[in-house]
Amino acid sequence: MTPPGAAGDAVAVPEPVPEPVPEPVPGADHDATEAVSAAMRRAKVRASTEHTTVGDVRRLPDGRVSIACACGMDLVNGPTWSLDEHIRLHRAEARYLALAAVAPPGIPRLVP
Ligand SMILES: [Zn+2]
Repeated sequence: MTPPGAAGDAVAVPEPVPEPVPEPVPGADHDATEAVSAAMRRAKVRASTEHTTVGDVRRLPDGRVSIACACGMDLVNGPTWSLDEHIRLHRAEARYLALAAVAPPGIPRLVP
């Protein structure tokens, strides 16, 4: 027979308090903790380091200005673009190619 009050005298083990569940971020998937994959981060850094300008701006005999890129290409101004515009486009193209090469499959793309 159970002694009177035994149940009440038992040390109550508190129910474990569940950890608060964070609100799901709309559009995020199960990999939301890693917003950008390591491969894409590395690709961006590599593109940046492989396409830095090298040396000083040179004035060409035809009047254009040029600067070398670490990849071996000479960046120049032209009749309708500045040297800075060429540098910016060159770096953007390099970054795009590097990221596109390692992007996870299935991402909807602007450039097919
Ligand atoms: Zn380059």
